[in-house]
Amino acid sequence: MELCEKSDACSFFKNQLRLTPAISEKLKALYCKSNKARCARYKVTQMAIKGFYPADEKASTLVESMVGQMYPHDYEKAELVISNLQKG
Ligand code: SF4
Repeated sequence: MELCEKSDACSFFKNQLRLTPAISEKLKALYCKSNKARCARYKVTQMAIKGFYPADEKASTLVESMVGQMYPHDYEKAELVISNLQKG
C-alpha cells in the first residue's frame, strides 16, 4: 500500500503529537505507510466524507479537535466520535 494521502495535513504524521520517535515511526510503518484503512484517525475522517459530520459549527470544531489529538491506534476514541456523529 502507498503512503496515506492525508499525511501532509495529519498532525500525527507531522510529529505534532507527544510520542517518542521510535514509537511514532513504528506506528507510521504500521498505519500510514502500509495500511491507512486500519487507522482510527483515517476512519473518522472517512465518516466525515460520507456525510456523518455535525452541521453545527461548535460540534464540528470539537470533532476536529478530538481527531487532531488522536493516534492511529486510538480505536476507543474513534468509536466515541463515530457514535456521536451517527447520532447527530
Ligand atoms: S495517522 Fe492515519 S490519517 Fe494520519 S497519515 Fe497516518 S494513516 Fe493517514
